[in-house]
Amino acid sequence: MRCAYHADYFLPLPTSHPFPMAKYPLLYERLRSAALVRDADLIEPAEAALDDLRLVHTDTYLEQLASGTLDAAAMRRIGVPWSAALWRRSRLAAQGTLEAARAALRDGLAANLAGGTHHAFPGHGEGFCVLNDVAVAIRVLQRDRLLRRALVIDLDVHQGNGTAAIFADDSDVFTFSMHGERNYPTRKMRSTLDVGLADGLGDDAYLALLQRHLDAIFAGFTPDLVFYLAGVDPVEGDRYGRLQLSKHGLRRRERSVLEACGSHGRPTVITIAGGYAPTPERTAELHAIVFEEAVALRAAATDHCPHTDLGAFEP
Ligand SMILES: [Zn+2]
Repeated sequence: MRCAYHADYFLPLPTSHPFPMAKYPLLYERLRSAALVRDADLIEPAEAALDDLRLVHTDTYLEQLASGTLDAAAMRRIGVPWSAALWRRSRLAAQGTLEAARAALRDGLAANLAGGTHHAFPGHGEGFCVLNDVAVAIRVLQRDRLLRRALVIDLDVHQGNGTAAIFADDSDVFTFSMHGERNYPTRKMRSTLDVGLADGLGDDAYLALLQRHLDAIFAGFTPDLVFYLAGVDPVEGDRYGRLQLSKHGLRRRERSVLEACGSHGRPTVITIAGGYAPTPERTAELHAIVFEEAVALRAAATDHCPHTDLGAFEP
């Protein structure tokens, strides 16, 4: 499976900062050492082009980001201090999702080892999100006539408010967000389908709800490409999550999503989104699960379909 990654996804932050930036290199190292990502699979993104970012974000916001002139309130809302490296990192990660989406359209399945920054709106960022990588990728691919309909499956524990707002009037983009109802953001935007969950929800109830909604979505909507935001913050012990998904439940979740996309023959791009386990190592371990399941599923599909290496993921 081809994966986008850049060493500069990592951005040094003050040690007291709550964002686990170390999870990016830790996830990369983990996938490399498990041979889940090989040299030939790697895509190293450049910084996203401004013309591409302008398809989603306002000129004013992009200029302020580039020049470091966002005011203190706007930076507090993002929650990460401005630096030239932050601006570069945000553009690398956005391009990583776009490159992974292009790879998924060719291969059936691909991933970005970052991305899923779903709290970014056209004119502001919030909740550790600067640019909305998934929205940018959708708009670029629509502009280039590489896709028309996209489905966003957002299972980060926080509602995908930026993504919902961006595509509120676009019936070609189905935004599905399953999130903690009482969790951040306090003011939720309207996705095509929002499923708000009670605090403390565990595996069986979570997975049953997910399966029911995935079945209903695929019965009524045929996307050219699926964007999966595989946030691991619904897992028990997460600093912000408030849900009780077990590690095994997370594995079942990843399999359910990938099997649903694969069985409907829909190309899928994985982004990692949020995760705030007690240590960055544990966060990376949880993020790795969707890659483990993706590679296992592709291997199984190839076994079943000896004449194609795409198997069930053939677009
Ligand atoms: Zn989150």
